[in-house]
Amino acid sequence: MPKSKTAPAAEKPPRRTVRLTHPDRIYWPGEGVTKEGLADYYTEVWRYMAPHVVGRPLALLRAPSGIDGQTFFQKHAWKGINANIIQVQDPKEKDEEPYVAINDFDGLMGLVQSATLEIHPWGSTLADWERPDRIIMDLDPGEGVAWQAVIDAAEETRRRLEAAGLNAFVKTSGGKGLHVCAPLKPSARWPAVKAFCKGIADAMAKDSPESYVSTITKSKRRGKILIDYLRNQRGQTAVAPYSTRARSGAAVSMPLAWSELSPEIGPAYFTVENTPTRLHALKADPWADFKAAAEPLKAGKAKG
Ligand code: ATP
Ligand code: MN
Ligand code: MN
Repeated sequence: MPKSKTAPAAEKPPRRTVRLTHPDRIYWPGEGVTKEGLADYYTEVWRYMAPHVVGRPLALLRAPSGIDGQTFFQKHAWKGINANIIQVQDPKEKDEEPYVAINDFDGLMGLVQSATLEIHPWGSTLADWERPDRIIMDLDPGEGVAWQAVIDAAEETRRRLEAAGLNAFVKTSGGKGLHVCAPLKPSARWPAVKAFCKGIADAMAKDSPESYVSTITKSKRRGKILIDYLRNQRGQTAVAPYSTRARSGAAVSMPLAWSELSPEIGPAYFTVENTPTRLHALKADPWADFKAAAEPLKAGKAKG
């Protein structure tokens, strides 16, 4: 894997030009985070977040009145959409309504102006909708699972991805679990990528049935971790690195170094409030090499 190049702190946050209406509207009442506070947060994280949100179809969780009001999980463009958000047509579904995407920082601010509290990208880009450039294994602890068990599951997922020749990165979900992500050179198509991910999830459940399940049957999940591989299908999404969550606490999905996984850093440890401090203190972006670490998925290595 290549070494990190740029010290992230060397770059300045971008300048905001997109106008926000109702900047004082409170989105997270418990923390007092306003729309303007959300814009400030995304201004700080933009240079880290951009590679993961630019140029791919996005699903959005919008909440015009904040997290306690009505929320919409929205996959398609809407009437009167902010001009900085681009609309893109699924090349396979010419009759469907367009999806939304962003090209730049103004696009991200367009999402904030539209009360987007969660950003959920596809695992493939607009350059090639059919060939994903990342895998996301979503680790969902059932009730009563200790955090250390989730960390162990992430490390086992990492080992299995590495055994198949891939590199793995980890982030908190900002909710209850961890996401283990592997960058891909886009070559395999969605069905092959899904089959590969199912192979890993099924193998984990088979080898440790007391710890893991790979099918979404809630009744079976108490005390176990669901290895949710179903993010890895065409049209499915997972929350973006650095995206905020529309849940109390104003937590965000935070990319971590593997060495940072510990009992002290829980799934919702990083928030809109403490993330700028983290980023200023960071010596190197733990995901700086994400793109450079991409490997093609090779067929027939799904066993893990
Ligand atoms: P947690 O750690 O709490 O599980 P998570 O983001 O991984 O947080 P999941 O419920 O495991 O949450 O994953 C659901 C994923 O499915 C979301 O990240 C989102 O991309 C996608 N999704 C699909 N439909 C919806 C919907 N209606 N509302 C919210 N998310 C949806
Ligand atoms: Mn999850
Ligand atoms: Mn899930």
